[in-house]
Amino acid sequence: MTLSFRSQLLLFFISLLGFTLMAELWAVSQAADRATRVNAMRTLAVAERVFVSLLEESHQQQLYRTVHLSEDPAFRRAISTARLNTISSILVSHGQRLGADMVVLLEPHQGDVMTSTHSLASTLPQLREHLQASNEPFSGLVIAEQQPFQLVMVPVLTPNLIAWVGMGFVIDKALVNRFRDISNADISLLYRGDQTAMISSISTTQTPTWTDFSNGSFDQLVGQFERLLNDRGNLSRQRLLLVDDRQQLTLMLSVSLTKAKLIFSDMESQIVLISALGLMLAVFLTVMVARRLTAPINRLVRAAERIGRGDYEQLAVTRGSRELHVLSDTLNNMQRAIADREQHIRYQAQHDLLTGLPNRNQMNELFDQRRLDQPSAHFAVALIKVSNFDTLSDAYGMGIVDQMLQQVGQRFASSPTSAMTLGLIATDEFLLLSESFSSAADDPEQSFSDAVTLGFEQPFQCANLELQCEVRLAMVLCPAHAEQFEDTVRRGRITLAEARRTDQRSLVYDAGQEVRHLRQIKVTRRLQQALVNDGFSLLFQPQYDLKTKRVYSAEALIRWHDEELGAMFPDEFISLAEESGVITQITEWVFTQALEQMVRWQAAGYRIGVSINLSAKDILKDELIDSVIRQLDAHDFERSNLMLEITESALIADAERALFNLQRLYDAGVHLAMDDFGTGYSSLTQLKSMPVHELKIDKSFVMNLCNDKADQQIVRSTIDMAHHLGLSVIAEGVESLAASSLLGEMNCDAIQGYHLSRPIPAKALLAWVDYFEQAPLERLESTT
Ligand code: C2E
Ligand code: CA
Ligand code: CA
Repeated sequence: MTLSFRSQLLLFFISLLGFTLMAELWAVSQAADRATRVNAMRTLAVAERVFVSLLEESHQQQLYRTVHLSEDPAFRRAISTARLNTISSILVSHGQRLGADMVVLLEPHQGDVMTSTHSLASTLPQLREHLQASNEPFSGLVIAEQQPFQLVMVPVLTPNLIAWVGMGFVIDKALVNRFRDISNADISLLYRGDQTAMISSISTTQTPTWTDFSNGSFDQLVGQFERLLNDRGNLSRQRLLLVDDRQQLTLMLSVSLTKAKLIFSDMESQIVLISALGLMLAVFLTVMVARRLTAPINRLVRAAERIGRGDYEQLAVTRGSRELHVLSDTLNNMQRAIADREQHIRYQAQHDLLTGLPNRNQMNELFDQRRLDQPSAHFAVALIKVSNFDTLSDAYGMGIVDQMLQQVGQRFASSPTSAMTLGLIATDEFLLLSESFSSAADDPEQSFSDAVTLGFEQPFQCANLELQCEVRLAMVLCPAHAEQFEDTVRRGRITLAEARRTDQRSLVYDAGQEVRHLRQIKVTRRLQQALVNDGFSLLFQPQYDLKTKRVYSAEALIRWHDEELGAMFPDEFISLAEESGVITQITEWVFTQALEQMVRWQAAGYRIGVSINLSAKDILKDELIDSVIRQLDAHDFERSNLMLEITESALIADAERALFNLQRLYDAGVHLAMDDFGTGYSSLTQLKSMPVHELKIDKSFVMNLCNDKADQQIVRSTIDMAHHLGLSVIAEGVESLAASSLLGEMNCDAIQGYHLSRPIPAKALLAWVDYFEQAPLERLESTT
């Protein structure tokens, strides 16, 4: 995950500030710690001095008072005269007056105890040392009966030394409490009066139960006590006040660091508060600064995203630093450049670059837009194909044809028909989109026709040449015929193909056309297979000579049974075979089969020839003619028994080649018949120059002959003229005896038709011939 610039900035400053504040807090707390410790140490040092001087001061006072007592003559007299038990009570009462807790009287020389309120076992050796050393009063600390005392010893002189009197003042809890109040430090006195005795303490703090401590020397126990204090957050200081063989007394002063630090904790929490406020302020300021910094960048980012989406309308505007201005200017320039380039690319994607006309994509879009904007509107689409495109480009070159196409574009751009939209959707294919029309009076076909005349059929002037453009036009109505662009174009193409097949300049799509077209595609595909799968068969239809009164020949007619399509008649598939080129192979197959059949018949003693149909395409194919002639040579038969039926359409496509090949067949000795005579354009005059032997009157003139006077006239004159040219005449489609008789009257040479027989298989034909030949005339009359 990548953080935004603003978040990064925020994170950076907050971390920086946070770190600084933490460091500062840490430093302050360290300083506070140090200060606390120094203060505490100072407090302890002061407390120690205070304690020592207080102790000294009280020694002096007690010393003074005890000396005063020893100098009292009554007291001296009492000591020197009284008995020992009297002396004790005197001492005690004097001691009470002085506030002493312990009174002692020692023998002057050896220092033996004459009387004492307390046991002096642990202090006596120390006292004796003093007594023997001098006769001056002295004072000091002693431990007696597990209690610390301030003991003052004064000699009693009369003037001879008669005794030492001692007054002891106990150091107790009240005393140390008082001291603590003065010095502000806790005080503990740790002491022991006997090596075997337990250590004891007087303290202003909570002291341990000494049994908790493991046994050890006095110093070790004091060390443990000090550690305990330190563990409880105290700072301590110790001073050994008394030490000799038997007794020890240590002063332990301590102050609580935790309490001492309390004064700083207020300060610390203030610092924390100030830091928190500072941090909040810093966050706020950083956010503000980041916003100021990133706002223009964000605007640029949004502008870039807009450009990415292809929206070039708005320009990026930026207030801010000079760099951002430069950046936004660059972005704006880039946006303009992209927009220009995109417009250019879009133009190229939508137009034919030669003519400037909308291309297929663009026409598709316009079509869809029209359907979207006006879903219920009716309009027409014309698919226009330049039918002589190849001829023109072969003759003049592509450059000239390109110029012509450019001029088509110009004509449409400047003519009043520009209400229509013309597009170029393939090299030689235009699409014309009409305005929507509503009234029945509108005739889109007429407007298309006018537009085409003006736009395409007026001659073009290209490089001093005059070019004539020929077009075919297919019209599709939307939405009646098609709702989608692709369907419209496909149906237009189907219609164009139909127009070409039927040789029409313009044709309107008719609803069944596509179904027929699809079937044609299927038939064409299956045709290829039929040759391999042996799907074809031949039927023969007898031809009867009216003059000699015999069946002299039979026309071979092809049949096809396909597994998928069922029984197929040649009217449907022959034209498709011609278009796809399979016709040549079919013809070869028919020719071989029919020829062999005829040879077999003749071998069986029947003088029956065959008529074989050649398609127009066949006549133009030299190789096929070669193959036919080769096959003729391979068989021994009377050549004139073989009749080849041809139609005029071959002559229209390429008369020269057709005539040349016909001549080759003619020269080979086979007979030629002009089939379907009367349906095409050819005239008898044209027939004169053609190498044919026979003329076959089309069944459309014959089937209705008896009832149609016009047909009678045509047939009669055709027969006469043909005879005049030296041709024999056969009429097909003879369905009745009447027609047969009439044709006989008209001097027709031969007949063929259902009246004699329908096309039948080869085997059936011989049986039929046998039956028929027994009494031809009777049979003719009896057949219905
Ligand atoms: P076509 O050459 O004019 O053949 C005569 C057609 O008329 C045949 O139809 C035949 O069955 C039919 N016909 C014969 N007598 C009568 C009659 O009295 N009344 C009526 N109404 N019709 C009659 P078919 O066999 O369906 O052939 C149709 C066309 O197919 C043929 O016309 C021919 O042009 C073509 N064709 C048939 N076989 C072949 C072939 O092997 N090769 C080629 N290239 N074309 C063929
Ligand atoms: Ca025929
Ligand atoms: Ca015919």
